[in-house]
Amino acid sequence: MNSYSAIARRNLLALPALIGTAQAQPARPTALATTGMIADLVRGVAGPGMTTDTLIGEGVDPHLFRPTRNDIARILRADALFFNGHRLEGRMNDVLDRAAAQGKPALAVAESIPRARLRQHDDYPDAADPHLWMDPALWADTLPAIMATLARLPQPPRQMEAGLAETRGMLHRLDAYARDVLAPIPAERRVLVTAHDAFAYFGRRHEFQVESIQGLSTEAEASLARIEAMVNLIVERRLPAIFTESSVPDRAVRALIEGVAARGRQLALGGTLFSDSMGRPGTYRGSYQGMMDHNITIISRALGGSAPERGMNGRL
Ligand SMILES: [Zn+2]
Repeated sequence: MNSYSAIARRNLLALPALIGTAQAQPARPTALATTGMIADLVRGVAGPGMTTDTLIGEGVDPHLFRPTRNDIARILRADALFFNGHRLEGRMNDVLDRAAAQGKPALAVAESIPRARLRQHDDYPDAADPHLWMDPALWADTLPAIMATLARLPQPPRQMEAGLAETRGMLHRLDAYARDVLAPIPAERRVLVTAHDAFAYFGRRHEFQVESIQGLSTEAEASLARIEAMVNLIVERRLPAIFTESSVPDRAVRALIEGVAARGRQLALGGTLFSDSMGRPGTYRGSYQGMMDHNITIISRALGGSAPERGMNGRL
């Protein structure tokens, strides 16, 4: 017997044992979420019995994200699929539709909330403002639909009720922290100026006027007229600080700071907010809780609120 057939024979003999192993330990189901903010909710409800992956990585803008062939393969291979919807993933509609047509559990998380509770926007006549995660109390209301979607798996994760309760508790603690540390900011200074229009749900929850240089999506460039109007607003309201965003280029924000300086006033950069993408995976800011703690804390500190320097958990 030559060595090739010896190996082949050994492999054939090993085959029943390999099949036996596979039957004894079925692969863990895999959920795929488009953004980290969604993946954290799914992971919270499902617990450790399921693998939950994120498709769109740190610092990548979901409005502009185009899936590669490998991304499409991951989407079609996942046992359950979670995406935001309301056109956040603007360049993925076809592949998300294809995946949903496979019949596997799939959920557009933001679209599980009744339309009347969502914010309409002139940029998107056929969809609502997709940036729901900016209001943790509203984001918490997507949890039952996530659990119902996971329940459709052939082997659903166990103890999902406990996971849901714990995740909802975390979201409500964030909401309460925001209310507390933003409370001292006077009404005239409750203006949040950012690069693109991702913070309207935050503004609605905490009575902030939200002004962005770009619109709801990051696809359109800001106009000079828009920058001029915003310089006027900042000067009139004597706003101390504005913010950049981690997933959006900061050219336009810097143009605003220069425009205000040309009018003889100093405008600080309050810091970089996480809007449509979380921080580095494995770090505190790479979790939904850390991302929101960071945002709330720097907004509070830049505009005169009472947030401690290191945030609600002392981890910033
Ligand atoms: Zn956005």
